Amino acid sequence: MVSGIIFDIKKYSINDGPGIRTTVFLSGCPLSCWWCHNPESQSRTPELLYRSNRCLACGACVEVCPEGAISLACHCEEGARSVPTKQSQTMQEIASGKDQDRPRNDIITDREKCTGCQTCVSVCYSSARQSSGYETTVNEVMAQVKREIPFYDESGGGVTFSGGEPLMQPTFLSKLLKACRQEEIHTTVDTSGFANWNVFEQIRGDADLFLFDLKHMDGVRHREVTGVPNEVILDNLKKLAERGHKILARIPLIPGINDDEENLHASGKFLASLPSLQGVELMGYHDIAQAKYEALGWEYKLPNTHPPTEEAMSHAAKVLTSYRLQVTIR
Ligand code: SF4
Ligand code: SF4
Repeated sequence: MVSGIIFDIKKYSINDGPGIRTTVFLSGCPLSCWWCHNPESQSRTPELLYRSNRCLACGACVEVCPEGAISLACHCEEGARSVPTKQSQTMQEIASGKDQDRPRNDIITDREKCTGCQTCVSVCYSSARQSSGYETTVNEVMAQVKREIPFYDESGGGVTFSGGEPLMQPTFLSKLLKACRQEEIHTTVDTSGFANWNVFEQIRGDADLFLFDLKHMDGVRHREVTGVPNEVILDNLKKLAERGHKILARIPLIPGINDDEENLHASGKFLASLPSLQGVELMGYHDIAQAKYEALGWEYKLPNTHPPTEEAMSHAAKVLTSYRLQVTIR
């Protein structure tokens, strides 16, 4: 039984390929893009997320953490207080609003001490603590995927394997693609393209469409903002196109990073040279993932960047269209 790590399965997705789709998000990514909107997916092993706005400060997690990585910081006059021992009573107080006179506590997680054992997740009833991924099997994923077949048939949809970078788990991905093919379900692979060509060889015959990211044409800048060089990515994209695979290129438009004239023209010129390219999707940057970085205890690298204006999106589309590319703004 082949298994893999995923961090989400999203149903009724309409932005990850044609029609209504189920998107399966596989964990693990070799890139660390500054604007990544799924930062919890970058690690192959599940990450601990803590959302302070959901926390009831009940103290349950403090008591169970085997590493002593969680503590309560109290703002009462006496200073630090001990953790409440009757948690159910505390929870009831909180739920009924009777806790209003209690001093407020902050829950602090020492990420240096945390081993990611996830014990605290299982006792957190308010879902302030969550795990970013879980192990599952091909059969378990397919059971969920197959339930939506009527929607795929009705809309011309199917399944999209995204991430993270789905090519980081080639055997798992390959088995999933084959299982979909057996059920005659349309498949799309959403990739950064950063993988050994052997991995593409392993899966390309079973994928109906590739959503292929193009982040920056300049190698130095690409490495700076994603953590990896772009040569292998451009090379893989060329090879896929030369072998006749259906490809939709996706450009995330990030103000101040890749929206300058030079990069837009270089992108247009490169994409126009590819045979079998179905079109280009221009994806506007958004900052809604910022809360996830806080939940992970990570620094967000673009705190002052705002989504591109409609004019900026239209201008980028115009530049790309001047290379006779079919451009869709998302
Ligand atoms: S168990 Fe959850 S709600 Fe309770 S203190 Fe810990 S994080 Fe907050
Ligand atoms: S995941 Fe980290 S914080 Fe939570 S119980 Fe395990 S060691 Fe403690």
